[in-house]
Amino acid sequence: RPIIEVDGITMKFTSKRSETVALDDVSLTVGEGEFVTIAGPSGCGKSTLLRIIAGLARVSAGKVSLYGKPVTGPQRDIGFAFQRSALLEWRGVRKNILLQAEMRGMDKKHAERRVNELIELTGLTGFEKALPHELSGGMQQRVALCRALLHEPRVLLMDEPFGALDALTREHMNIEMNRVWRETGTTIVLVTHSVPEAVYLGSRIVVMSPRPGRIVETLSPGLPAERD
Ligand code: ADP
Ligand code: ADP
Repeated sequence: RPIIEVDGITMKFTSKRSETVALDDVSLTVGEGEFVTIAGPSGCGKSTLLRIIAGLARVSAGKVSLYGKPVTGPQRDIGFAFQRSALLEWRGVRKNILLQAEMRGMDKKHAERRVNELIELTGLTGFEKALPHELSGGMQQRVALCRALLHEPRVLLMDEPFGALDALTREHMNIEMNRVWRETGTTIVLVTHSVPEAVYLGSRIVVMSPRPGRIVETLSPGLPAERD
């Protein structure tokens, strides 16, 4: 069942001197429960595509829909995590995650229960009160992941979420992501410039090329269960 439908999107950025075609006639359908990874070099339009799906940028041409409804602004059913997902320095782990509940006006009791589950799921148990500067980069990204998942979005969008981490931590986070995906059933779209990362994580891999930003290939490796 398709959740995200991107249909013939073109995105141009124009200034007085130049025109950049960030996305040129890009189409992509993401089905329920898929883990789609989008790989490609810097400047191929990955971030722009993700922002468009999230309803954070308007397209020059084409259509995007979520559950068959046109995307016209920020989407409630979407969680978003970036490379540098800003955590509030003066708030502990738990309170940083609960920020999402405050922003979305979630039921307090429900949010409290949910935060406990997520802290356990991502191995943050024991760090509930720790401040961001007391955590490693990998742990900070786990906090950002929990925050993005708190309101149980059906779709999780991630833009180079582990791009700022060292290689070893990054590998750990990839294993973790794979588990989060299998255990929560969330539909995930993750952008990365690392092809190995895309191949490791994706149930489907979309490869893009720059100038203009286009999808050049879509690969479906073995079923996720076969990769365990
Ligand atoms: P990626 O995420 O693959 O690195 P981006 O989506 O960030 O690529 O950018 C794609 C292209 O569009 C690049 O050439 C970039 O410089 C350009 N671009 C992105 N956002 C803007 C913007 N707000 N204004 C002008 N150009 C932009
Ligand atoms: P990424 O790490 O995903 O490649 P970038 O550093 O390319 O991100 O872009 C970060 C932000 O700056 C994005 O919101 C993007 O839209 C904007 N941006 C990228 N390129 C340009 C540009 N040439 N002019 C203006 N804004 C840009």
